[in-house]
Amino acid sequence: MGWFQGKAAVVTGAGMGIGRDTARILAAQGAAVMCADVNLDAAAGVVKLITDAGGQAAMVKTDVSDPKQCEEMVAATVKAFGGLHLAVNNAGISGGPLKTATHPIDDWRRIISVNLDGVFYSMRYEIPAMLETGGGSIVNVSSILGLVGFESSPAYTAAKHGVVGLTKTASIELAQQNIRVNSVNPGFIMTPMQTNQGVNTGDETYNYIAAKHPMNRFGNPQEVAYGIAWLLSDEASFLTGISMPIDGGYTAQ
Ligand code: NAP
Repeated sequence: MGWFQGKAAVVTGAGMGIGRDTARILAAQGAAVMCADVNLDAAAGVVKLITDAGGQAAMVKTDVSDPKQCEEMVAATVKAFGGLHLAVNNAGISGGPLKTATHPIDDWRRIISVNLDGVFYSMRYEIPAMLETGGGSIVNVSSILGLVGFESSPAYTAAKHGVVGLTKTASIELAQQNIRVNSVNPGFIMTPMQTNQGVNTGDETYNYIAAKHPMNRFGNPQEVAYGIAWLLSDEASFLTGISMPIDGGYTAQ
């Protein structure tokens, strides 16, 4: 038994990092999990981890910046598992270091299209499926940069603030239709998003960014995934429209 026994879930960007640990924890708590990712090899790895552990999972190739693929992602989930109860809109790309005055226009559009449009497109199709199923719970993955500014990454910061606004609005729209909508706002987390940018534990960049968190470290993806799982669960049944920092104290300062 578990929090999500008999529930169907979709996780975007499930192949790596926060999405991967979230998919694993939801499955361990009994959910059937559709692992959606633009990187199908990575998604296949997560499906194998889940099924090897006795859980239920499937995968679908999805680029969340394409509304048609988001529609197909939800349809595939409903087809595979008979409905949709849980959604984690997590897929995202990094957005820096760039400055507003010199930001390449193409990069602006690309970052907004994945990190903000992608969350809207996903919700656009998840919500009708959840209403059809009888209700559900959505967690969008924003960032501390959805709550405060940063010295670089303007498109990323704008997109993540947009996710907070979208979350609040949808939560009000759906509050009486048995669908809760919340976001998590992680601090800096050691995932491939960071290591692919050359950040490694203990190096100069790591130490500089870690020091901005009162805990003086990056988080790990599991620490975010457990927060997501709790927000999705019935344990958080009176919570909707919140943006929950998971940030080692970054936004407490
Ligand atoms: P990650 O390690 O880069 O993993 C993200 C996964 O999403 C990858 O499998 C990636 O595939 C996939 N993806 C990228 N673009 C996609 C698209 N258009 N459609 C579907 N899937 C896509 O990232 P992460 O660090 O776990 O971040 C997950 C979320 O947390 C993001 O929204 C991010 O902004 C947010 N976040 C991260 C941090 C952090 O410090 N890591 C902090 C705050 C918030 P490819 O690798 O093939 O592109």
